[in-house]
Amino acid sequence: MKTPLEVRNDAATRALMLCWPAGETQRVDHARLRAACPCAACRRVRLDGAASEAVADVTLIAIEPMGYGVQLAFSDGHARGIYPWPYLEQLGRDEAR
Ligand SMILES: [Zn+2]
Repeated sequence: MKTPLEVRNDAATRALMLCWPAGETQRVDHARLRAACPCAACRRVRLDGAASEAVADVTLIAIEPMGYGVQLAFSDGHARGIYPWPYLEQLGRDEAR
């Protein structure tokens, strides 16, 4: 599995920065990360077709390394999502489009 060399919270642009070994840098918006939270509760909400509420102003406040990814805590108090590296890479790719 590809593991980033560095994971950084860029508070100024409200984005998570991922620096990959190949030299590629990806950025993923905080709001996008929150909306894509992979925890069971959020996944169920999305499956039900309901959009996550009020995520536009949400910011990332903490990054907890989990080995295979990171657990992210957000300003709305939600901190249950564990984002594996491939999932973050995918989010970063979508954002670049
Ligand atoms: Zn969640």
